Amino acid sequence: MRVKIHKFPSGATIVYKHFPRGSASAIYVGFHCGTNYLENGLPHAFEHMLFQGTKNRTREQIVEDRNKVCYLNAVTSCFLMLIKYYTSNRKLDAGAEFASDLLFNSTFDQRNIKEEANVIKEERSMRCEKDRRTLTYRHFNLFCEKRYESIEDEAAKLLGTDEVLDNLKTADFVEYKNKHFTQNKFIMFASSTLPFYKIKRLCKKYFLSKISEKRKGEILAYKPHPIVAKEGINLVKNDNKSIKCIVTIKLDVPDPKVYINDFSHKIVRWNLLMKPELYFYQLREKGLIYHASAYYCNHIAKNISFNFSFETSQIENVEKIIDIIGDSISRLKTDYVSSGDISAFRYNYETEEDLPDTSSNDDDANFLFDAYEVYRENNPYYKNTKKSRRKDLYKANEKTCKDFIDKMFNKDNDIYITIMGDFDEKKVKSIKDYKKLIFKEK
Ligand SMILES: [Zn+2]
Repeated sequence: MRVKIHKFPSGATIVYKHFPRGSASAIYVGFHCGTNYLENGLPHAFEHMLFQGTKNRTREQIVEDRNKVCYLNAVTSCFLMLIKYYTSNRKLDAGAEFASDLLFNSTFDQRNIKEEANVIKEERSMRCEKDRRTLTYRHFNLFCEKRYESIEDEAAKLLGTDEVLDNLKTADFVEYKNKHFTQNKFIMFASSTLPFYKIKRLCKKYFLSKISEKRKGEILAYKPHPIVAKEGINLVKNDNKSIKCIVTIKLDVPDPKVYINDFSHKIVRWNLLMKPELYFYQLREKGLIYHASAYYCNHIAKNISFNFSFETSQIENVEKIIDIIGDSISRLKTDYVSSGDISAFRYNYETEEDLPDTSSNDDDANFLFDAYEVYRENNPYYKNTKKSRRKDLYKANEKTCKDFIDKMFNKDNDIYITIMGDFDEKKVKSIKDYKKLIFKEK
């Protein structure tokens, strides 16, 4: 079923999807007041403080009710700050009362702020350590349009510096709430077995009735982060015992939306991973990897990319692997993708669509929320149904795949490589040398 988006006259929004199995619901509810609205850590600290006591519940009672009434959690993204819960429909009202109490009646008690600030400092150090070691994070962060100067700068802007955290006051949180908790900034995501009208009633009763209709708040537009850096190589030295690497090929496009429901890149990827003469099985045959992947990324503006990522034990293998990526690209450009390859892909894709759907209400609500950040109400993913996917699947053919291969794997496109691990830099080649291997230039 398609996603239903309901807008109240005040601008308050419900994004709803009916869920066919069980008798449960997942509700994500909150406001447009995520980290982009104030880049000093306050929005995130605000989310933490929602669990530190309300006019009706002490901090201890909140812990108790997370166990007895309904398990609630929260999430702060770039644009949204939401309380979420996933429960049996029997507990839906109890959960809504609880969520509503946290959102609208939190006291932001000064005594609890200091303790929570220490928790956030721990979260910040954990986050930095994880980011430092995550290959995709380091790779795309270096080559995409910069949001932050460094991992530490990002952590400071999202979670706060020591100075900010040590000086947070009750009044800061009250002010933030008054500014952002307006009807037009309200949003609820719901995946439920219940019909929409029941969710709407729940929304009005527990949430909309608590917000004044008078004020309006500003809603920030989505800001994309396309690849902007010049072609290059990025060496990340750490004490990891294996070498991890990503090779990205960038393609500039006038409209990335065109590619969202296009299956051509999926078919090309499938071939790279499944055909014995191409990438994955060639690397396996030569004993260079255990695991390697290939994937397409849509950067939402200006460009898309095709990525090869792999992990190997020796730095010397990187050159051999990149050489094989080049062999695979050459093969793709001579043989392309046959109608037999496309039939095989369709057959496998349709088989997968027929398998039992093991997603939960929570997965669905999380998807609704994730997808909303980028295109909001016009999100092409929201129009995606089994029927429309099937239509798109049959739209991709030998010609669209050939077009994609020719455009994507073109030597005029920029290449980006990140190598991470504990290796001798003298054994790393230049980006020009690697590019010659990828496009087999003499
Ligand atoms: Zn946190």
